[in-house]
Amino acid sequence: MPRRPDVRTLRHRLLLFISWPLLVLLGASMVADYRSALGIAGEAYDNALARTAIALVTRLERDDDDKDIEVDVPPAADEILRSDPHDTVQYVVFDDKGKRVAGDAELMELPRPRVANQAVLDDAQLGGQTVRTASFRYESPTLSATVIVAETTVKRTRAARQILMAIAWPNLLLIAAALLLVYFGVRFALRPLDALGERIARRGPGDFSLLAEADVPGEAGPLVRAINRLMGHLDTAGRAQQAFLSNAAHQLRTPLAGLQTQLELATAELPPESRPRLKRLSDSTRRLVHFTHQMLALARSSSEGALISDHRPVALAGLLEEAASDLLDGALAKGIDLGFETAPATVEGSRWMLREMIANLVDNAIAYTPDGGRVTVRCGCDKAGGAFVEVEDNGPGIPEAERGRIFERFYRVAGRGGEGTGLGLAIVREVAERHAARVEVEAGAEGRGSCFRVVFPPPG
Ligand code: ADP
Repeated sequence: MPRRPDVRTLRHRLLLFISWPLLVLLGASMVADYRSALGIAGEAYDNALARTAIALVTRLERDDDDKDIEVDVPPAADEILRSDPHDTVQYVVFDDKGKRVAGDAELMELPRPRVANQAVLDDAQLGGQTVRTASFRYESPTLSATVIVAETTVKRTRAARQILMAIAWPNLLLIAAALLLVYFGVRFALRPLDALGERIARRGPGDFSLLAEADVPGEAGPLVRAINRLMGHLDTAGRAQQAFLSNAAHQLRTPLAGLQTQLELATAELPPESRPRLKRLSDSTRRLVHFTHQMLALARSSSEGALISDHRPVALAGLLEEAASDLLDGALAKGIDLGFETAPATVEGSRWMLREMIANLVDNAIAYTPDGGRVTVRCGCDKAGGAFVEVEDNGPGIPEAERGRIFERFYRVAGRGGEGTGLGLAIVREVAERHAARVEVEAGAEGRGSCFRVVFPPPG
């Protein structure tokens, strides 16, 4: 399977690449600080312990008959030695034959120093407890003996904890501050890119104007230039397609209209027996004209809608009456009561597209409403200030399950008959989208028929 490229945001990547090494560095420096502070504290305690051992060595002497060794530790000194408030301090002195001269017998089992005349510091276990020992093997021509002083490690553990606390808090604060700085720094540094993204996102579908290079950071320059080149191509392609479609619309419409007129004239002139056939031919041509018109309207609204430059303020009330009056004949032929309820409302948009949209909605309402029915066309502004157009009828309505699909191209509700192409509502949706409007469809008054409503966004 091909590996998915790393598509995380720049912000995410920067944060990741800066914060992890920073965390590791700060963590390592904290460990180093802790170790060196612990070393310094331990050395101070070790020196004190070694000094005690050496002090005991200086008290070694031969007894009166010069046979045995003695240690002259006055009871007060012994008490001072053992009176550490936190730790238990013990000592033992024994001669080179292993005979204890003074102190605690249990210390005899501790490891003995290998080198002579030098204080040796070590860690050991005594009665299940960890102790720190300072031992001194004294050797002189007249006297040789060993002194071992052992001290529990309460002070040391406590000091280690205090050092850890003293180092951890400032370091943790430093890490938090550094991470916050990195986070806000990255956000701040990337703000121009966000602004560029927002500027592009705010554009309408047909806005191909070039992006200003001056307000983006240097690093985004190539990207902006590439986008601008693409905009240029799209603009040229859009204009070329629009010119082609308008041309095609014009070229097709004229001969088709001519054909239809000629057929109608021929129907009147030819003998009655050939009239049914000519009538069918004429109907097919009418459908072809309608279909061509719909196809071109859809194609034009898709591409031309992209060019918002031709958007102008359009008064909806006038446009409604204009579009519907073209369909008045159809309504009269079916005895449909076509009513208008208009209030002033203006939309910034393309006049011909909006007219096409309204015509399709009214045309459908007349086509699907049975003879003698009612179609009402409305426009105005809703509470939020957005203009709306509404076409309501009391025809068969549209089942709820179909409401999502009727806007698809070439989709027709089954069993409805009629001469439709399935493109009318696709054009409505396309035009609405081009004007950032939404189309709603629901049942008409008293739950009968259907009501199509196009709501435009409030101005500004
Ligand atoms: P058509 O050319 O078939 O009318 P449309 O896209 O305009 O195509 O409409 C799609 C389908 O929606 C139609 O086939 C029809 O069944 C249904 N429809 C549209 N408008 C109405 C309406 N006012 N009342 C009932 N059905 C409708």
